[in-house]
Amino acid sequence: MAVNLAMIAKVYIWSLFSLLRSPCSLCATPTSHASGLCTGCLTDLPTLPGPLCRCALPIPGTALTEHDDLAPLCGHCLHQPPTFLGIQTPFVYAHPLDRMINDWKHRRRLHMQRPLQYLLDQGLTALPDVDAVVPIPLHWQRQWQRGFNQATLLALALAHRHGLRLLPALSRPSAGRHQQGSSARDRRRAHPGMFVCRTDVRRLRILLVDDVITTATTVRAASDALLNAGAESVSVVALCRVLPPSAR
Ligand SMILES: [Zn+2]
Ligand SMILES: [Zn+2]
Repeated sequence: MAVNLAMIAKVYIWSLFSLLRSPCSLCATPTSHASGLCTGCLTDLPTLPGPLCRCALPIPGTALTEHDDLAPLCGHCLHQPPTFLGIQTPFVYAHPLDRMINDWKHRRRLHMQRPLQYLLDQGLTALPDVDAVVPIPLHWQRQWQRGFNQATLLALALAHRHGLRLLPALSRPSAGRHQQGSSARDRRRAHPGMFVCRTDVRRLRILLVDDVITTATTVRAASDALLNAGAESVSVVALCRVLPPSAR
């Protein structure tokens, strides 16, 4: 009888524990981790290898020392230095993050936001000193079709977590073309007028937030618009970076 009671108690406690766990967002293994991912999936995520250019491209063969104040520059940035101070992004846009982000943005699997937000929060080292957080906007038509702007959701949570002001300062007057499917040369082409700054950002240190950095053209254009409107500085954070074939 005593054995049976002990077993019943064990099963009861195990059931209670199971109730506190949810299926991993990627593989459905029960997990109680705050990210909503199991530890196996967390350790398999594609982290971005350093050292990195200011545009977050890895620069193989370059060694940073503790005396280096500025990150080295890749060929493209040497030719056309970005106006932002740097991009901080913890991951490579590769499996399974690409699937998670596509499910979130294009298949309306909104439960993906929790793990993606967690990964951005935990993957960032110390944030730079900033006054306001500005999300990269979508054109209104695309936002209407999607129902939300993923960069705004990431920026909102980041601002809340760090006690910063969310400032939707930019608008995107043209729908433009999808970056996916356009050539690398097209994607790297400068896009003056891609963004319009519609808020007073004078003397503000801005933290620009996007979900995926493809070629950095978008954040370059957003940074230019903010600095032209009088912002003091622009730093960028993003969830992940697309690597060109030469950097993989
Ligand atoms: Zn998993
Ligand atoms: Zn670069």
